Amino acid sequence: LDFRQTKFVTSAPDIRQMPPDNGIEIAFAGRSNSGKSSSINAICDQKHLAKTSSTPGRTRLINLFAVQANKFLVDLPGYGYAAVPEAMKKQWQKSMSEYLQKRKALRGIVITMDIRHPLKDHDRLILDWSTAANLPAIILLTKADKLGVNARSKALKEVKLLLSEFDGSFTVIPFSAWRGIGVDETRKLLSMWYSS
Ligand code: GDP
Repeated sequence: LDFRQTKFVTSAPDIRQMPPDNGIEIAFAGRSNSGKSSSINAICDQKHLAKTSSTPGRTRLINLFAVQANKFLVDLPGYGYAAVPEAMKKQWQKSMSEYLQKRKALRGIVITMDIRHPLKDHDRLILDWSTAANLPAIILLTKADKLGVNARSKALKEVKLLLSEFDGSFTVIPFSAWRGIGVDETRKLLSMWYSS
């Protein structure tokens, strides 16, 4: 699959207003500032496909991209802003769990986590919902270039250990959009999901 051909399709204000539940979708989720946009851009080898560093509090949309006809990459809004009102957090939880559990097109989820701050509360919720829905997850430990090789493999081990408490199917990949670490491995896994 040639990710460089990925094109923007449409935005939806919420999950209920997404296009029809057809084709194959892989969703990207992650805390804001976790490097989600940069990861999507690195995987698709395009600088400005996903918007990086959107301002907190601005209208946050679900963005749909097509890697190929009927093979979609779904960029979910970043989460984890402390300043977000409680009612909005509840709404996020409801629509996120619904999407993960009901969307037929969804084949798997990619969760971006800063390698220095993995597995925060919202990340764990996503993991709970995706395992409940039998969806495999790829965990990208982003900004891996911030750590030396030893600290990187230590972080990888720790995350794998923490994940053993969830009984889902996970692949953990140290990733750097800046240095190209883990990009090819991620593309290979995504290609497999898209062709399953
Ligand atoms: P998003 O909010 O999750 O979409 O995160 P962004 O992709 O906008 O990145 C958040 C911040 O992390 C930005 O300042 C990026 O420049 C930085 N960043 C993203 N990827 C990397 C990376 O691979 N290495 C480093 N060192 N910083 C990164």
